[in-house]
Amino acid sequence: MVAAWLRRARRVAVLTGAGISADSGLPTFRGAQHALWSRFRPESLATPEAFAHDPALVWAWYQWRRALVARARPNPGHTALVELEAAVPVCTLITQNVDGLHRAAGSRNIIALHGELLRDRCTGCGRESPCTIVASLADAPCERLEPDRCPACGARLRPAVVWFGEPLPEGAMAAASAAVRACEVLLVVGTSGVVYPAASLAPLARTAGARVVVVNPEPAPDDVARQLTGSAADILPALVRRAFA
Ligand code: NAD
Ligand code: ZN
Repeated sequence: MVAAWLRRARRVAVLTGAGISADSGLPTFRGAQHALWSRFRPESLATPEAFAHDPALVWAWYQWRRALVARARPNPGHTALVELEAAVPVCTLITQNVDGLHRAAGSRNIIALHGELLRDRCTGCGRESPCTIVASLADAPCERLEPDRCPACGARLRPAVVWFGEPLPEGAMAAASAAVRACEVLLVVGTSGVVYPAASLAPLARTAGARVVVVNPEPAPDDVARQLTGSAADILPALVRRAFA
């Protein structure tokens, strides 16, 4: 049924969250963390207040996550979405992930709602640049690291991601809303749907008449058109094959 909806659709939107990268070995927010970081809640580290209060603690956590992400590779779920984009006339991929794996897999029409983990932004002059990666931190993180400094102005760098309480990148939410309002099918993959404003996109799609299909190992709310229960890396390749093979 879902395969037929995709085959007939002219516009498809996909909303992804941390779950699609779980099979690439990246922990979701609710998943297993390193023992060092298990005492901290991500919501208490990923804030402007935390960075202002203790920049070395927040920077150390990000340098650990960056080392994990730098060695992760796209999984068959990411690859299936590249094939979906090639098969559907208009396919918009909206992601809450900051890991860059959709782009690494080859997806092109991406709206990155929460920014990019592997880039820095200067807190002084605003300049963005690729971050430094210390590969050994993936296995042996440390609890404090002084943030890198901007080569242009000397101010502290911060990750170019959206922290809790910060606005989304200019135009990102407007573009995402337009895509879900226009689509016939919205695939919601690997997101718990608790982080706003991204969590408002599925209700918006439904109100506008789209079929909302959830791909998640955990049960979805009952107002979705269809739930495909399981891992994105298993479900998505099979679905795209059924729709377009
Ligand atoms: P979340 O951790 O709140 O939810 C993850 C969801 O994925 C859950 O519903 C879970 O059941 C599901 N899931 C777990 N394994 C799966 C699999 N193999 N296939 C499909 N689904 C699976 O994450 P969220 O909803 O993305 O929202 C929280 C915030 O976490 C976002 O702002 C996001 O930026 C951030 N985050 C990003 C990354 C990343 O970039 N990889 C990792 C962790 C958290
Ligand atoms: Zn600067």
